[in-house]
Amino acid sequence: MAYVITDICERAGACVDVCPTDSIHAVEGDANWPTYYINPDTCISCGACAAECPNEAIFDEADPEAAAFIQKNADFYTKGPGKNLI
Ligand code: SF4
Repeated sequence: MAYVITDICERAGACVDVCPTDSIHAVEGDANWPTYYINPDTCISCGACAAECPNEAIFDEADPEAAAFIQKNADFYTKGPGKNLI
């Protein structure tokens, strides 16, 4: 299980600072990847990021709000610019 960032994200950045596993990443200036993303392979589902997000943009992947964004988060690390960040 992992937490998932949705398109409500406005890159406030608070989540990055509290993540104990450094699982949250973004790429500046890439319109194809406009939010922050969570690496599902390293997220330990602690929930710290969701509690800190000022926009309430982060959900447990079991939450229906996350469903449409689970693959996008994973793709960032396997097909997108996140390949170069981990
Ligand atoms: Fe990091 Fe915890 Fe959020 Fe996973 S749930 S991305 S480990 S802060």
